[in-house]
Amino acid sequence: MKQDNPMIPQVEKLIQNPQLKVWEKEISRHLLIKSIRTVLDEIRTEWKLTGATVTEAEILNRIDGACDTLYRSRPLPVINCSGVLIHTNLGRAPLDASVWDAVKKANTRYVALEYDMIQGKRGQRNALLSPLFSALTGAESAAVVNNNAAALFLILSMYAKNREVIVSRGELVQIGGGFRIPEILEQSGARLVEVGTTNVTTCEDYTRAITQNTALVLKVHRSNFALRGFTCEPTTRELVEALPGRIMVLVDQGSGVLDHEIPGEVSVKEHLAHGASIVTFSGDKVLGSVQSGCIVGKETLVAPLITHPLYRVLRPGKTIVTLLEQTLINQLNGQLSSPMRMAQRSVDELRVMGENIISGLPSAQVTLVEAPMTLGGGSTPDEFIPSLAIKVTSHNSIDVLVQKLRSSNPPVIGKVEKNSLMLYLGALDNQDAEILSHHLSVALGDV
Ligand SMILES: *Cc1c(COP(=O)(O)O)cnc(C)c1O
Repeated sequence: MKQDNPMIPQVEKLIQNPQLKVWEKEISRHLLIKSIRTVLDEIRTEWKLTGATVTEAEILNRIDGACDTLYRSRPLPVINCSGVLIHTNLGRAPLDASVWDAVKKANTRYVALEYDMIQGKRGQRNALLSPLFSALTGAESAAVVNNNAAALFLILSMYAKNREVIVSRGELVQIGGGFRIPEILEQSGARLVEVGTTNVTTCEDYTRAITQNTALVLKVHRSNFALRGFTCEPTTRELVEALPGRIMVLVDQGSGVLDHEIPGEVSVKEHLAHGASIVTFSGDKVLGSVQSGCIVGKETLVAPLITHPLYRVLRPGKTIVTLLEQTLINQLNGQLSSPMRMAQRSVDELRVMGENIISGLPSAQVTLVEAPMTLGGGSTPDEFIPSLAIKVTSHNSIDVLVQKLRSSNPPVIGKVEKNSLMLYLGALDNQDAEILSHHLSVALGDV
């Protein structure tokens, strides 16, 4: 047997090396050791095949790189300069730190999640969410599941299995990765009845499609695109008035605009006031809370949902419940949701931040430009929020710069537009701004 490469250090020694030791708390001691072993095995194999030797510094760098790859597969914090305030790939809305802090105790102690304190026996889960949502939207009752897709799935499974659901051809949408309205319907066992055309659907289109077997009419927010020009669709009120009382009107509102936070968006409150039977939306879009699917509406229709066996499959845990409750409490007490607070900052405010970031950077390469942002998160798909961006032009490759910023810690995610890198400021707080300034000067310094 060939002798081992005398240059290869011992695993135990490597774990203690300060360059590698830091990974222990980021990816665990177990995965650190595994990465060390994998790299050492590779080096041994290379040495046996080619006789190639490596320096200790190279060994450390290779292990460091392997650990970094693992670390970066975690949901790490990033600096969102993408131009989209609520970006599904970047975790949608950031939760307010005050909300997080407020529920720490409830999540690190035993809690009365399903315990009736007065009776001293098993009680109802999530009981406060209903009165909170009622206060914010006027709903009689509320239920919460893990996301909006789950909310629709539960409602359709309970009320439309083997029955017909009427949907406008203009609303058979795909939202984000893999959420298609016709597919959710099919999975739930409901039968899709398409009515109208892509651009025009009238009340008569809906009423003509009603049969003995019709369970409900589903209205879906288009979320990520807009129809313009010759278009027509009934409002929820017109639809409710035109349909026989036995037909439920279910609205997938999507964005979670509860009241009138965003002009031009029909809010959850409005849909309910117009007579919608049930409205569903995501908790982590405009509402600015955790990933959750909120269901609000008529007590006789919403309350039974939590008795369906599927609710047991889709129900959220105490962390989600407590965070969502706290977000709603804060909003009832006048606090804006985090995405709304960011969206409402003035361009002047952003300009101060932008000038701070670029001061000291090479002015030939960075300029502050007006650049409108989109809100994202399934709201106002073709409207923009006035905002600013740092436009970076580089004599070298923009791709290299993009890559550098993306591999910095925390990574900076911008957007390439016409050979420039645009770093949108509308989603940054002051701490992000400082980090961005630092990363940018490093990246430009050695591009
Ligand atoms: C975002 C969105 C969904 C999906 O919501 P999730 O919470 O991601 O499941 C469904 N419908 C509409 C209209 C949406 O905007």
